Parts: sequence; C-alpha cells; structure tokens
Amino acid sequence: MKTNHTVFTMLACTLLLALQGCSLSSHTLAQQPALGQPSGSAEMEQMIDQAGPVELETINSADWSVSLAGLLNLDSAAATQAGLEDRDEPIQIYAHLLKHPRYGNFIIDTGVSQKLLDDPGKHGLNWIIQQAMHLEKLHIRKSTDEMLQELNGKLSGVFFTHLHLDHIAGMPDIAADVPLYIGATESSASHFKNLFVRGATDQLLKGKQPLQEWHFQPDPQGNFEGIIDLFGDGSAFVISVPGHSPGSVAFLIRTTRGPVLMTGDACITRWGWEHTVEPGDFTADHERNLKNLKSMKELVARHPAIEVRLGHQH
Ligand SMILES: [Zn+2]
Repeated sequence: MKTNHTVFTMLACTLLLALQGCSLSSHTLAQQPALGQPSGSAEMEQMIDQAGPVELETINSADWSVSLAGLLNLDSAAATQAGLEDRDEPIQIYAHLLKHPRYGNFIIDTGVSQKLLDDPGKHGLNWIIQQAMHLEKLHIRKSTDEMLQELNGKLSGVFFTHLHLDHIAGMPDIAADVPLYIGATESSASHFKNLFVRGATDQLLKGKQPLQEWHFQPDPQGNFEGIIDLFGDGSAFVISVPGHSPGSVAFLIRTTRGPVLMTGDACITRWGWEHTVEPGDFTADHERNLKNLKSMKELVARHPAIEVRLGHQH
C-alpha cells in the first residue's frame, strides 16, 4: 500500500509540474537594460505626430502559411459572425531595420536565417517542432544574413516583440556580442506549452548575450500597461502589450517619414486589426491581449498619421 501511495504521489507531482509548466528559456538574464527609461503616454503622444530622426525599413524575410486558427481567435463573436473557418493563411515573417543617427543600427525581431532552414535539427528544432511549424511551407525572401550585410555598419542590438520561434529564427546569423532586449517576464514566466519549445528557444539563444529585460512602470495616464522611452530622446517608444505572450511589446517609432506602430503579434493579421480580434491558439491570455489591442487601436484613432505594421501581414 505504502509503495502504491508513493508512486501515486510521484505521478501526481510530475503531472502537477507538467501542468505548471516551465519557463520559455533558461537563457541568462541581465541585471539592468542598457537602453530604455520610464515614460508615459502623455509624453509619447505629445511628440508622436512630429517626424523623428529614425530611419525604419520593414523587410519581408520569409513567406509562410499557417493555420488561421493560430493567427486569429475564430471563436470571437466577429469571426463567428463573418463565418470564418480554419484554413491555411498566407503570412510573412518580418524584420524591421532601425537606424538611429546617434545610437546606431538595430533590428526589431530577426527574420529567418538560411542556416536554420538548411539544418533545423542543429539549431534545436526537433522533428515535432518541424512538423508543427510546417517548415516546408516557409520560403525565405531575404535571410537575416543578407539583411545584415546590407546594413551600413555594425548591429548595436536586437529588440524582440516577443520570443516565439518565428521571431528568433534569425538568431543563427546574429553575432554573439550583439545586445538582446525583451519585455519583462517574456522568458521567465511559466506555461505548460513552453515544455515543447524551451529546448529550441535555448538552443537558438545559446552563446548569445544575456537577455536585457524592460521593466515597465504603470502609464501615468492609464492608456497602456507601461511605456518606455527607448533611447531617452523621444524618438522611439516601447509599449507593454502582454497577452499573446507574457512579455509582448509593441514599438512606436518616430521615423523620418512619420510615426510607425509595430504591433508585434499582439495583432498578427489585417482582419484581426480591422475587426479588433486578437490572435488565436498561440495566445497565452486572450482577454489581456484584446484589451491591449484595443488600446493600440485607440492610440491610432487619436493619431491617424500613425502607420501600422502588424505582426505577420500588411
Ligand atoms: Zn509570430
């Protein structure tokens, strides 16, 4: 009886651990981010409509297609009403090149490395992940390496909207000394789904710089969960928009051609933006994601000059 009881307790503990899950990555975290200082929506919105000093180029690194149910909450009232059903949906994997005249060259997300597609196993993508991601449907248009070769000068850092595999797929081409920035708790929060991707995430980050986390203070105006002035000069802002993942962030950049909002995967599809529907299966907290999507749409309504660039569609 006693042995049975012990075995039962062990099984129960294992199950509990699996349900509690694990963090997305065990990659080292840095103490303090080298870039970013607390700001707020009043400060940001005061400057938003003036053109800024940053040159920004969005690059389509790869064409891909995935299940619409992952990209869009098909159970939402709007999707049900429109009769949307699951299907293969064409999307793109973007990287955004950001050139600041004073602080240097950065990229937002990483695009896709040819090395990853040539040998996914070597970079941590096991057979199950390869099947789940349908890598055979992913076609590179401009690899991360090609993108970086066109950069005039050194890469000073990578800003991640979040750490899902399609956003770190360019890491094999990122040099080991390049600083990496994420939203707070993105890599450390626990979720059972992380059990499947933690190995790959760790492998793609292996040997790279520690992750520098942005910790957000509450927005004094309450329009967002938090806002950071990225360079401290009002040219670029990081907006905390968790929900799709625990540390999801969006970026508002004052470019030479006007303000641009990059939503990351807080909004993946054009339909989702137009109908205010958050992403689907890959989303950790739907309610929070939807609330933050609404906050971004309200921001754009207040400042119609903002050009919106979504997670995976034009
Ligand atoms: Zn994505």
